[in-house]
Amino acid sequence: MSSQPAMQAADAVKPFSELVSALKNSFSTGKTRPLDWRRAQLLALKRLVEDNQQEIQGALQADLGKSESEAWSTEIGYILADIKHTLKHLSGWMKPRKVSTPLVAQPATSFRLPEPLGTVLIIGAWNYPFQLVIAPFIAALAAGNCAVLKPSELSPHTSALIARLIHRYMDTSAVAVVEGGKEQTTDLLSLAWDHIFYTGGEQVGRIVMRSAAEHLTPVTLELGGKSPCIVDGNADIRATARRIVWGKWLNAGQTCIAPDYVLVTRQYADSLIEALRAELKAQYGEQPLSNSDYGSIVNPRHLQRLVGYLSDLDSVIGGEVDEAARKLAPTLVVDPPLDSALMQEEIFGPILPLITVDTLEQAVEFVNLRAKPLAMYLFTNNKAFEQKVLAQTSAGSVCINDTLMFMTNPSLPFGGVGCSGMGQYHGESGFATFSHFKSVMKRSFWLDVPIRYAPFSKLKLKL
Ligand code: NAD
Repeated sequence: MSSQPAMQAADAVKPFSELVSALKNSFSTGKTRPLDWRRAQLLALKRLVEDNQQEIQGALQADLGKSESEAWSTEIGYILADIKHTLKHLSGWMKPRKVSTPLVAQPATSFRLPEPLGTVLIIGAWNYPFQLVIAPFIAALAAGNCAVLKPSELSPHTSALIARLIHRYMDTSAVAVVEGGKEQTTDLLSLAWDHIFYTGGEQVGRIVMRSAAEHLTPVTLELGGKSPCIVDGNADIRATARRIVWGKWLNAGQTCIAPDYVLVTRQYADSLIEALRAELKAQYGEQPLSNSDYGSIVNPRHLQRLVGYLSDLDSVIGGEVDEAARKLAPTLVVDPPLDSALMQEEIFGPILPLITVDTLEQAVEFVNLRAKPLAMYLFTNNKAFEQKVLAQTSAGSVCINDTLMFMTNPSLPFGGVGCSGMGQYHGESGFATFSHFKSVMKRSFWLDVPIRYAPFSKLKLKL
């Protein structure tokens, strides 16, 4: 634990520029570079999570009505596994990576040496308000950086808790939390950072990138979009429905990689709808609105946005609202107009449109006519169709025969493509995001072929 004063906006004694200067000074002392410092910080973070598991879970419950099990699997347990994986591999990741040297440069050795970027800014979203700030923070620490964390103001309980705990457990000469919304983020973005890691919507993503351009600061943008799910009717429909229900209605659909809509051939639509109905009942019961395992919408404004999507549409399943609890029941809409807001905007809530197509080829075309998604799901037993989808479509990540599960593998870098984002993290890719791989060539003195030195001659040119 550090005895240094906290650098939080809540008790902001210093303007942000002074805060960032102080962190930059710390970085320039070299204290964050050694493996020992990085390990000590990761262990402190592990203690922070373990000691305060109940409090973190309480904040997630207050912000999003997250059940204990969901809070564990998608935030607390997820982060502990991430820290464990990072601690296990960190010394290996930090080693120089030897590469070959061409004959013309021999005798020499060549290697890529990872070095920290410096002082980085991490801006989080509200839907997984703990995980989305702490996971990039783990990567930033592992890579030996100083960092400022800016959790989302829309999840105020988790934001306040992160600020309090980081101050208590971490080295506050190298790490700070700034709480706040647009105003504070705008101020932070005006400063010169060594990297900005942003998770959130496309609109603000553009603002972040514009601000970063002023200082030529590299950015990672973890954005969203409409992630499609293609269901081939020959797949196991019950298992397909079970896994779609899990991935879609976890956190009440407020997951950046949740299936946004399902494409299915007309022939199999009815059996998929019935399987989804049965699975919803099995997972959330007859009254999902009063089920404590079913989450809330983050705030009344987002609830109204979601209810608004349904105003001119008929729901085949769900549609009920509990305003006081900020809950919207799991809702299925079949074939909404493609120009409706539901099909034009990222839903980011518990409404699933099911779009029927005549052929699976049409489903592939449908995906390709839209922006490249963050994630794509394909349920099929048909290897040739699987290959076709992989070869002919683009997405940040693809999961075949399940939803979301690719997130559990730290060896799979996570990030978008096109409008769903740029850059990746998780596992070693997170370490790489917050590192610069310095290219180094070390030459020997013992052999010095004079051919490259002046004076030049025709003979030298021929050689
Ligand atoms: P958002 O873009 O509204 O807010 C994200 C962050 O930006 C917050 O910390 C907020 O304080 C800040 N911010 C908001 N307005 C700002 C402004 N005008 N100027 C500067 N900063 C500003 O996003 P959100 O509503 O919190 O999150 C929803 C979006 O995030 C969805 O599109 C979702 O798909 C995406 N998302 C992506 C991932 C991912 O890992 N790729 C994860 C979660 C959410």
